[in-house]
Amino acid sequence: MASVNSSPAKHQKSKALKPGSRRPAKELCSECGLCDTYYIHYVKEACAFLNQQIAELETEAHGQSRNLEHPEDWYFGVHQQMMAAKKKEPIAGAQWTGIVSSIAIAMLNSGKVEGVVCVQNTPEDRFQPMPVIARTTEEILAARVNKPTLSPNLSILEQVERSRMKRLLVIGVGCQIQALRAVEKQLGLEKLYVLGTPCVDNVTRAGLQKFLETTSRSPETVVHYEFMQDFRVHFKHEDGTIEKVPFFGLKTNQLKDVFAPSCMSCFDYVNSLADLVVGYMGAPFGWQWIVVRNHTGQEMLDLVHNQLETQPVTSQGDRHQAVQQSIPAYDQGVTLPMWAAKMMGVVIEKIGPKGLEYARFSIDSHFTRNYLYVKRHHPEKLAAHVPEYAKRIVGQYKLPKE
Ligand code: FAD
Ligand code: SF4
Repeated sequence: MASVNSSPAKHQKSKALKPGSRRPAKELCSECGLCDTYYIHYVKEACAFLNQQIAELETEAHGQSRNLEHPEDWYFGVHQQMMAAKKKEPIAGAQWTGIVSSIAIAMLNSGKVEGVVCVQNTPEDRFQPMPVIARTTEEILAARVNKPTLSPNLSILEQVERSRMKRLLVIGVGCQIQALRAVEKQLGLEKLYVLGTPCVDNVTRAGLQKFLETTSRSPETVVHYEFMQDFRVHFKHEDGTIEKVPFFGLKTNQLKDVFAPSCMSCFDYVNSLADLVVGYMGAPFGWQWIVVRNHTGQEMLDLVHNQLETQPVTSQGDRHQAVQQSIPAYDQGVTLPMWAAKMMGVVIEKIGPKGLEYARFSIDSHFTRNYLYVKRHHPEKLAAHVPEYAKRIVGQYKLPKE
């Protein structure tokens, strides 16, 4: 079963459901928002946590699924090209240099789309996501920067239909895009563009608070953070200062349960079903990483090409030993003393994996951890829920015996 074709009960309004009241994926739900709409009718087929069908949906979206003979495809999915890029004139306040917001603005202003699904924050809380359909440059800019929490982006799907828009751009992370692709044919659109970001280790709003409080020296002034390629978390504070905390010094024993169970069970780090993906993890420090998956993705990128400085992607180092050694630490929640964590961070930064090899390091570390999580907590789901490419990635490592 790939995308859903039948449309029997589509327009039957779900009976006055309160947002969040029905979640068939239960604790694995990533709050993608689908179940806040009448598209909940399709949840059994569409939910990324109830029906893993990445290969089938790749074929529908890109005309092919990833080639399992090519390890490059295990990691980065179907793609026509990858590059490192940054905006010549970065957008102030964006997560990185603002390539995502710039593409969305160009799509709207060129008339290719009538609206853009993106995530602003609520007036009271800079980290509380508020999905919107943006129809102006200002509304897109108001959605810049990550809201590093689970976000119900698909909760606006009913609004899309009511608005009678025919050409739409959706910005989102992997689980949102999997469900979107599954119901795409039901939306009545002439053209859907999908601009994705990679995503890993997301949290609920309460989980985010715990993460900030256990990790940052000043949780209330953090405006944005990122797990960087230099093996440190960079917290940006309101006064512009940057606080850096080494990954190996994170209080993993306290943070073990902070990541959402959906994210501990996710194997779509690189947003396999988006037309175009913009992240950072395969690029040198300070640059963004772009993956063009199909012609539609290239069409979007072409619109902003003259605003970008670009360079080819590179790869350096060998991640395997570092991943193998980090498996027990991740698994048992070991925390190093800060002096040792800093030393380890410096050594790994000097000799460690860089560029695409850093991306592979991060994918390997998360997939092995998540494989163990699903095996322990949902053994009955393991075979069907873990995609074949992820099984091959995990198969490179020795996992602890149960
Ligand atoms: P901006 O121009 O600042 O635009 C950011 C866009 O993100 C906005 O359009 C907004 O609608 C959207 N957005 C914000 N919060 C959410 C959310 N919660 N869900 C869905 N969409 C949202 N890249 C990596 O390479 N590795 C990672 O591990 C990684 N983890 C991420 C985790 C999350 C939760 C998110 C949202 C992104 C992650 N990214 C990751 C992507 C990266 O951090 C940047 O978002 C990306 O490079 C775009 O930067 P920008 O300056 O072009 O974005
Ligand atoms: Fe519904 Fe989305 Fe949660 Fe699945 S992840 S149960 S589709 S809201």
